[in-house]
Amino acid sequence: HADNLARLRELIAQSSRMVAFTGAGISTESGIPDFRSPGGLWTKYRPIEFQDFMASEEMRRESWHIKFATEKVIADAKPNKGHLALAHLYRQGKLSSVITQNIDGLHQVSGIPDDRVIELHGNTTYALCLDCHQRYELDQIRAIFLPDETVPHCDRCGGFIKTATISFGQAMPVEEMRRAEEETLACDLFVALGSSLVVFPAAGFPLMAKQNGARLVIINRDATKQDPYADLVINGSIGEVLGGLLDGDELSMGRD
Ligand code: NAD
Repeated sequence: HADNLARLRELIAQSSRMVAFTGAGISTESGIPDFRSPGGLWTKYRPIEFQDFMASEEMRRESWHIKFATEKVIADAKPNKGHLALAHLYRQGKLSSVITQNIDGLHQVSGIPDDRVIELHGNTTYALCLDCHQRYELDQIRAIFLPDETVPHCDRCGGFIKTATISFGQAMPVEEMRRAEEETLACDLFVALGSSLVVFPAAGFPLMAKQNGARLVIINRDATKQDPYADLVINGSIGEVLGGLLDGDELSMGRD
């Protein structure tokens, strides 16, 4: 582990523009289960696909039912050492941006500005009208839904309201994909953290960075299919690895 950490430090020191690419694994230490952990949210509630959400009022009701039955997990979560270490690297001018598959908003809470967090799969902490894109806060939806499970509709255009996440089967957000590509091609160090790197198109960015000449680092508890392309693979807990990276040297997180 010590060698890996030294190598990671060296790669960061040599980099002048770093991008972090994060998946569910960076948030498990904040108490939000990833896809794979048995007994987690996602094994109890199968994710509702976009076409099903669009197809019936019953599925939209089910979708809001699941959202409010499970929202505390994300609402109560706080950034962990992994998020905080990335925020520290951002403040130091090392980290240009975070491209995330997560929908929990914890990178922003950790102190990375909104415009430096590229959310490929949206955000579950608010909702949008699918037609006119009017924004709704969860408090507003809760007030409509909770008493008798009335499915909310947009009060401006009548469209369907959905959490601002990208469901399976839903089109990827065009502007976020464009910015993610731009950041990927501009970086000299691309660090993938806590992602199994199997959900495409998001999982295409690490290889895009590598093929463009950036160094590629993968930090993940389990092996990934993209490990063979990486300059450095660290199998471990993100909190421990990034905590170890920042503890006791000039990058010390101090009183962050
Ligand atoms: P994934 O569940 O497929 O993979 C997570 C990976 O992280 C696994 O390989 C696991 O070994 C690793 N991991 C878990 N905890 C770790 C830790 N503490 N330290 C190091 N590694 C750890 O997740 P994915 O690749 O992000 O893709 C799944 C999809 O699920 C994404 O599209 C995402 O939008 C969605 N999702 C989001 C959240 C969230 O917002 N927090 C949570 C679950 C799923």
